[in-house]
Amino acid sequence: MSEARLPVAFAGGRSQKRPQPTRLSFDPALFARPVAEISGVARQTARRLASLGLVTVADLIAHYPRRYEDYRDRKRITELKVGEEATVRGTVRSVVSERTMRKRVAVVRAAVSDDTGTIEACWYNQLYLGKLLVEGMILSLRGSYRPQRGRATFVVKSHEILDEESDLVHTEGFVPVYPASEQVSARLLRTVLHGVLPLSRRLPDPLPARLRVSERLPSKADAVTAVHQPRSPDEAREARARLVLEELLLMQVGLLLHRARERRRAKAPALAQQAALRERFVSGLPFALTQEQLEALAEIDADLGHSDPMRRLLQGDVGSGKTVVAFAALLRAVGEGRQGAIMAPTETLAEQHAQTAAERIGTLATAELLTARLSTSQRRAALQRIATGEAQIVIGTHALLQGDVAFHDLAVVVVDEQHRFGVSARDRLARKAGASRKAPHMLYMTATPIPRTLALTVYGDLDVSTIAAGPQGRSPVVTRLVDESRRADGYEFVRKQLDRGRQVYVVCPAIEESESIQAATAVAEAERLAGGEFRDYRVAVLHGQLKPARREQTMAAFKAGDVRVLVATTLVEVGIDVPNATVMMVEGADRFGLAQLHQLRGRVGRGEARSYCLLFSQAEGPSAQARLAALLETTDGFALADRDLELRGEGQLFGSRQAGAVDLKLARLARDREALLRARTLAAALLQDDPRLAKPVNRPLAGAVEAAFGGELAWLLKA
Ligand code: ADP
Ligand code: MG
Repeated sequence: MSEARLPVAFAGGRSQKRPQPTRLSFDPALFARPVAEISGVARQTARRLASLGLVTVADLIAHYPRRYEDYRDRKRITELKVGEEATVRGTVRSVVSERTMRKRVAVVRAAVSDDTGTIEACWYNQLYLGKLLVEGMILSLRGSYRPQRGRATFVVKSHEILDEESDLVHTEGFVPVYPASEQVSARLLRTVLHGVLPLSRRLPDPLPARLRVSERLPSKADAVTAVHQPRSPDEAREARARLVLEELLLMQVGLLLHRARERRRAKAPALAQQAALRERFVSGLPFALTQEQLEALAEIDADLGHSDPMRRLLQGDVGSGKTVVAFAALLRAVGEGRQGAIMAPTETLAEQHAQTAAERIGTLATAELLTARLSTSQRRAALQRIATGEAQIVIGTHALLQGDVAFHDLAVVVVDEQHRFGVSARDRLARKAGASRKAPHMLYMTATPIPRTLALTVYGDLDVSTIAAGPQGRSPVVTRLVDESRRADGYEFVRKQLDRGRQVYVVCPAIEESESIQAATAVAEAERLAGGEFRDYRVAVLHGQLKPARREQTMAAFKAGDVRVLVATTLVEVGIDVPNATVMMVEGADRFGLAQLHQLRGRVGRGEARSYCLLFSQAEGPSAQARLAALLETTDGFALADRDLELRGEGQLFGSRQAGAVDLKLARLARDREALLRARTLAAALLQDDPRLAKPVNRPLAGAVEAAFGGELAWLLKA
């Protein structure tokens, strides 16, 4: 495909000057082209970029810097101060490679001089530089000056080989720092982006010109260029603000379109309150509902009595007791001879709900579990019962969405852990109402509560109920960071819990790259513990690579208390409910995000007994420490989300998954609250003026909204 190559030069960070805006029309195909087709990006580089999800030109351009380093402080060599980080430029005079005396670390030393003096630049563990650097080369060096043994040593952090036409991308001006990975260095990203960036001049602007003017926003092309290569902090800020507003606007427009669409839809059946059935359900519970559960249920009950379909979000931290509220709601459908359904993101969770249904609902309704695990004949039988209405409460995974699943008369739908589903998946169930041809009432549940005003905006079209506190009488999970030197004490403590009849989770480190490696780690750890620290107790292992039946058996054995120690991968992150488990041990805790750790910790503290979360970590870096410290400080999910944002400058909790299908690259809902509210207002005004975004001036916006929702909302604009 040689003629298909793009006119972009790549050569180790050297490239042409920032080009002038062109009049070239937008060519979507250009941005959809694979990175590998761009001349200069080697196949192997492209593969590495793909591991970060960077496949097309558009992906690269939207891979925004996380932050910037300010390298404007270039110094003359004689101006260097001890211990200070700075940038210098000079000519290589000589190069030697050697190993340090004591630790045998490879070190490359180069004498570099400018017209004021000479320093000895040194690099550790980068032997290849010994071959690359030659006398006469001009280098720009970023590093710190630390005289050692009388020598003027400059320890290099990053360097760039200069030639005349070169732009300085690594060591001068504001240097973007990109989210990188082990395989893809920030340096590589800078280089590749530097080459691709000129193309962004041709990016179309989804924001209508009028709005851009009234909000005083830079154009898309300018903003993209400036966010990657700002000439000043102000320029970077302004560019970021514009891109954030754009993302949030796309999201809000999408959500409002969605709301409008839902409102045009059919009516729901108004469900009468079946007082006797409710009474039997509530009195059969082994506990009394808390005040907050009762309030949430009252709000739901009010919705269910109306013929406007309920669209309510039930938010409550892990363990706050959302499930019984959900079942109470589902029973209202049953009371009228209709059906209820609950959809969960994982098989394990669906099975758990089936179990809860068996315990809590018992004979009040017939429950049916529909997952991908059923055999063909089991599935056929289940579908039959669902279609006839014999199955009154249907519990399942994505499997519920399949075309052959037909309900008799679906009146109430619960979507658990709703942020794990895309917008269209969530609503496809709503279109399966069956005989009544009415829309079912929808209850969405999430374990990531956020403040109400924010929730109303983020979720666009949902009403919100919140269960803030868990069931009373429970004390918060005691969380401890366990140092490697105290590991033995940790096990000793856990054995005492086991001796009291309690159960224990051991979660193995997250290994994002490979599920099979993670599984292998768990297996090895289980073996080790079964023959060592926990040899007196039954230990089992649970991971994603096990056969479903095996997984089920293991979970059942743990639930029944036969298995005392469950060694698992992050599979247990969501929804598992074993109140007798009082210890959560997390290995390699620094490898998890705060949100994940919070979820894991939520697996214990679900019964009366005091529970413990032991975090093992060898990471010494300040950021890992700070993150883990936050977890020790609070058990409040929302507070943790805010901390997470502060510490990492980005939030998993409020990432794309939280916002439905929209992929938020720069915007962070907690940090950019004001922009979010502004976007909401702007979106409403735009749609008021042009409800389907049909006007020519709004077409680019419509296209971008579709793209932002990954095509999920394509039907919205047409419907
Ligand atoms: P989540 O909100 O995370 O889905 P669950 O609904 O799984 O939480 O509830 C967590 C645990 O608390 C379950 O074992 C459940 O039976 C129990 N539970 C729920 N409500 C109450 C209550 N009012 N009093 C005591 N325990 C409760
Ligand atoms: Mg739950």
